[in-house]
Amino acid sequence: MSLATVQTRAKQGIEAPAVTIEVHLSNGLPAFHIVGLPETAVKESKDRVRSAIINSHFEFPARRITVNLAPAELPKEGSRFDLAIAIAILAASEQIPTDLLDDYEFIGELALSATLRPVEAVLPSALCCAAGGRKLIISRDNANEAALVEELTVLPAEHLLDVSAHLHQRQALAPWQRVVTQPSVVNSELSDIIGQQHAKRALEIAASGGHHLLLYGPPGTGKTMLASRLPNLLPPLDNHQAIQVAAIHSVAGRSNVQQHRQRPFRTPHHSASAAAMVGGGSNPKPGEISLAHQGVLFLDELPEFQRQVLEMLREPLESGEITISRVANQISYPARFQLIAAMNPCPCGYLGSQRCVCTAEQIGRYRSRLSGPLMDRIDLQVQVSAIENQQLLNQRKQPPGETTEVVQQRVSKAWDMQLNRQGKINSELTGQQLKIVCPLNSAQREFLDQAIDHYALSTRGFYRVLKVARTIADLAGLEKPKLTQYQEALSYRSIISHE
Ligand SMILES: [Zn+2]
Repeated sequence: MSLATVQTRAKQGIEAPAVTIEVHLSNGLPAFHIVGLPETAVKESKDRVRSAIINSHFEFPARRITVNLAPAELPKEGSRFDLAIAIAILAASEQIPTDLLDDYEFIGELALSATLRPVEAVLPSALCCAAGGRKLIISRDNANEAALVEELTVLPAEHLLDVSAHLHQRQALAPWQRVVTQPSVVNSELSDIIGQQHAKRALEIAASGGHHLLLYGPPGTGKTMLASRLPNLLPPLDNHQAIQVAAIHSVAGRSNVQQHRQRPFRTPHHSASAAAMVGGGSNPKPGEISLAHQGVLFLDELPEFQRQVLEMLREPLESGEITISRVANQISYPARFQLIAAMNPCPCGYLGSQRCVCTAEQIGRYRSRLSGPLMDRIDLQVQVSAIENQQLLNQRKQPPGETTEVVQQRVSKAWDMQLNRQGKINSELTGQQLKIVCPLNSAQREFLDQAIDHYALSTRGFYRVLKVARTIADLAGLEKPKLTQYQEALSYRSIISHE
C-alpha cells in the first residue's frame, strides 16, 4: 500500500466541512508536497509533521510524498490537519494498519515532539463528526468541548504514539467521560430592583415576545440592572440551541463549557469597533452580535456607539444573521439576538432637573446620532425615572416586588401560546402572519390609522406595534388583542421624539 486516506474537518464560519487527506508515496527523489490550495499555515505543518514522525521513532519515508487536501476549493486555515496528515503518511508507508482508519476523524496540531495540541473551534467539527457516525480522535485539551455533543464518542490522546497504539489495537484510547456541570448562578433576581414597575412591565413584555427594548433615563436608575435580569426571564435554551450557541463561542475561541445552557448576555463597550461588533477580521471570528445569538445584546449609552457600527445592526435585527464579505468568499454567522439598549436623556444625563448643563444644540446632536431606521426597529421604548427618596425610605413597608421565578413562569406560558399557535415567537412574525393573528375590527383599525399619522409610523413600525400588542394579549391569555392591548403597545413607541 502506498496510498492512504484519512478523514478530518476544516472550519468555515460555524460550519465544519469534511476534508479528506490523501497521501500517495511514489518512487523518485525524496520530496514532500502538500496540494489542495492550502494556506501558509498548512504549509508550515509540513515541518511539524516531519519532526513529529521522526521524534516518535517512526521512519519518515524517503520517497516522493504527495499530500492532497480535498476538496481543493475549500479555504483551509490553521494547524488542525497535522494529526490527520501524519496518520495518513504512517498508513501509506505501512507503519500503522489501515483497517480501522475509516471509523475515525482526526483533528489536532502536532508539536515537534509529537505531543498533540488543542485547536480552535472544535465543537462544530464534533457535531458534524457525530452526524457522520464516526468517532473523534482529538487532543485531551479539546475533549471537554467536543463531548458537549452527547451522541459522539470522543477519544482524547496526548501523543502521536497513543493514536498509533490505538490503531494497532495494542492500547485502546479511553473514551472521554462527560462531566455533568451545574450552571453557575448569576445574580438575576428581579425583586432586588426597587420600584420601576413601568420598566419591569416593559421588560416582561420584551421577554415574552422577543422584542427589542430601549431603557431611557438618568444615570443611577437601574437601567443596567434591569437589562441584566432579562436572560433569566427567558425560557432556557433547548438542546439544539445550546449546542449552536456553544459552537459560535467555540469558533470565537471563547468556549465556556461550564455555562453552555445559559442564554448569552453580551455587553460590548461603546468604543467597540465594527469588526468586534459584527465579526470579521483576517482570521474571521464572530462578533458580539453573534456571541449574543439566542440571548441578549445590551448596549449601554447607545448614542455613544459609532454611528457606522449602529447602522450595521440593522440587517441582523431584521434577518437574524450577519454576512461578512471577504476577498475570497463570504461567511455568515447566526445573530438572532434581543437588543436591549440604554441611554441618558441628554449628554450630562440630567435633562429635566436643575442639574442639567446641556444646551439645546448639544441635546439635539446627541439624539441625532440615533438614526430613524434604527429606532424604528426598537419595539419598546420606556422611561426609567429616578426613584423618589420617599419611595426608598418606604421600601421596607412595601411588599417585595415579584421574583424572577414568578415572572419567568408567565413568560414561559406566553412563549408556549406563541409556539403552539404559529411555531415561532411574535417578534419573528411576518406581515402576512400578523394579519391572521392580529385581526383588526373597525374601531381598532381607526385607532391605529390615527396613530400611524400622529407618530408618522413606517410600515415596519406599524407591524412592530401589532407584534407587541399580540404579546401583551398572550400574557393576558387572550385569543386576540383588544383595543387596550393596541393602546398599550403604542404607548411604548417613540417616547424620545414625542415626550
Ligand atoms: Zn444634560
